[in-house]
Amino acid sequence: MFESTNISLAVKIIQEGGLVAFPTETVYGLGADALNPEAVAKIFAEKERPSFDPLIVHIASLEDIPRLTRNVDERVYTLAKRFWPGPLTIVLPKSDIVPDIVTSGLPTVGIRMPNNPIALALIKSSGCPIAAPSANKFGRISPTTAQHVRKQLPNVDCILDGGPSFVGIESTVIALNSDGFVILREGFITADDLKTVLPSSNFPVESGNKLSSPGLLNSHYSPLKPIFIEGDNSPKSVEFLKNASLYRGAYLSFSGKTPESYGVVDYLSKTGDLREAAVNLFGALHRLEDNPQVDFIVAEPVPLREIGIAIMDRLKKAAYKYKK
Ligand code: AMP
Ligand code: MG
Repeated sequence: MFESTNISLAVKIIQEGGLVAFPTETVYGLGADALNPEAVAKIFAEKERPSFDPLIVHIASLEDIPRLTRNVDERVYTLAKRFWPGPLTIVLPKSDIVPDIVTSGLPTVGIRMPNNPIALALIKSSGCPIAAPSANKFGRISPTTAQHVRKQLPNVDCILDGGPSFVGIESTVIALNSDGFVILREGFITADDLKTVLPSSNFPVESGNKLSSPGLLNSHYSPLKPIFIEGDNSPKSVEFLKNASLYRGAYLSFSGKTPESYGVVDYLSKTGDLREAAVNLFGALHRLEDNPQVDFIVAEPVPLREIGIAIMDRLKKAAYKYKK
């Protein structure tokens, strides 16, 4: 494995069917040639990702839309004009050239154009769309630096280092209905942002008997230590915290408050700034997961507005398995 800013070596690896971890504005991705099923299979193996969880296909040019999708919906171009390159994934009917392994057998494919010069150069020079989920083991904390990738995926052929991701949270995933959009996964781009160009749909997404968006799994993004959301009164959290020695705990502050009873205090923000909190979220969880003085984490909830909705979504999923 090597870490590099040398895109031509990474391009060669992609073209030969290997894996490259690369920076995007949301989180680091683990990429392979989206049109090469054997290469894509390596992503699932390396991540230990269940085959029912589809991958997002990353493009660098709108010319890929008619190649990768069927019955091109003109609203994609309206959305692209406003939000691409950027943290928005649009789920569209897939064309036959997209292998089933990419979409977990769904008839649709999630497409996004990332807002990162290294990612765009990698896709352009490789000459193929790149399928990439977040570059972490399935269910664990997403990476926002090259170091985070190395921690969880030491066997990846190549990690392109582009510094810390500046959004810090995965893309918003949407599908289109006859009357507008449906959010399948919350992210940096909110429903209010989307409503500036399209109405929100009154209908649910048709999904047959499959999960309409597996990113909606209840448990995800978890550190290897128990994490709770402050004020969550589920019996298991109450029981755990009643018996816990708080000096072995870490408090993850959003407003800047610093409770003295905890051994460690870390910050999403010191001033209640939601943008800053999103950028810091996964980095703080990695730090606390790695800190031997910390046995468990208590996170201060953030307000449910703007990107706060996506932050709470990630925190609740991280905490889910510890409250059940
Ligand atoms: P990530 O592992 O962060 O790249 O997340 C990918 C997520 O995007 C999946 O877990 C799904 O929730 C969503 N997604 C990707 N492709 C589709 C699709 N064809 N239909 C619905 N959701 C999708
Ligand atoms: Mg992920």
